[in-house]
Amino acid sequence: MADIDSRPRQAKRRKRVQIIKKIIICMIVTAILLPTVLSIVLAVKLSDARKQIDELEASIAIGAATGTEDSSPAAEEVAQTSIFVTSQLEESTRTGEEGRIEEITEDTEKIKIYLTFDDGPSSNTAAILDILNQYDVKATFFVVGKTDDSSRQAYRRIVDEGHTLAMHSYSHRYHEIYQSVESFSSDLTRLQEFLYEETGIWCTYCRFPGGSSNTVSNVDMQELITYLDEQNITYFDWNIASGDAVSGALSVEQIVENCLAGVSGKRTGIMLLHDAAEKHSTVEALPYIIEGLLAMENVQILPISDDTVPVRHMEALH
Ligand SMILES: [Zn+2]
Repeated sequence: MADIDSRPRQAKRRKRVQIIKKIIICMIVTAILLPTVLSIVLAVKLSDARKQIDELEASIAIGAATGTEDSSPAAEEVAQTSIFVTSQLEESTRTGEEGRIEEITEDTEKIKIYLTFDDGPSSNTAAILDILNQYDVKATFFVVGKTDDSSRQAYRRIVDEGHTLAMHSYSHRYHEIYQSVESFSSDLTRLQEFLYEETGIWCTYCRFPGGSSNTVSNVDMQELITYLDEQNITYFDWNIASGDAVSGALSVEQIVENCLAGVSGKRTGIMLLHDAAEKHSTVEALPYIIEGLLAMENVQILPISDDTVPVRHMEALH
């Protein structure tokens, strides 16, 4: 009886074992298959994501090459320096995006910065020249007429050390030089001849005292611009103001910041600095300005030459 009773129990047991076996097999199969299936699904999704990235990159590249010319550095420049009308606006619109810059040749892609010193020589000229020498940097000096020995040495040193000697005004007396075209021309001619005697250089570059946009001249500046044209003299204003001429002298840090921040968005930057006895902060700022400029890989510091694109506040009206 016991044997008869145990049969259905054994059958039940076998059934249970079979179910457990099935469950175990299912678990093993799932354990093997699930990661495989998941891997395949993820691989497909990854591939889709890559495609999307590629498409996005391609559309970004197209945008850079053909889209907005740039964020208008010319407009920014005008805002920064008020009424400056520069003949290099067209050139300056090239800045700002890599796509275009890559197309420009090595030489033109560099931002050309010109350090210019007005009103010298002064007791600071030697220190300024020493600093320029130390960094092997050439600058431009818009000088006035002074006949003392150290000034005469300064003119010669400027020329001998490869800087550009340029004219500002012999007397630098606004009320005299801006009385008439004649008074302006006699002052400038006097300076031109004096500098020629001192250095053998016939200067053909000048900067109007107060710039071409000055509001103190009694003469229409257009008449003076026409006069310079006739004399083959090129005038240069500036589009980076160091601020060292501002009354209530700026700190060295402010001068350096003005100069370096002014470079942004320009293809040609003509920097206004002063070579004057009372302007010690300019001398102190100069090494930092030069180091800051040299640290900018796409900047080159040059003396004004016939190749320089003039920056002008007031253009000749033809
Ligand atoms: Zn001046």
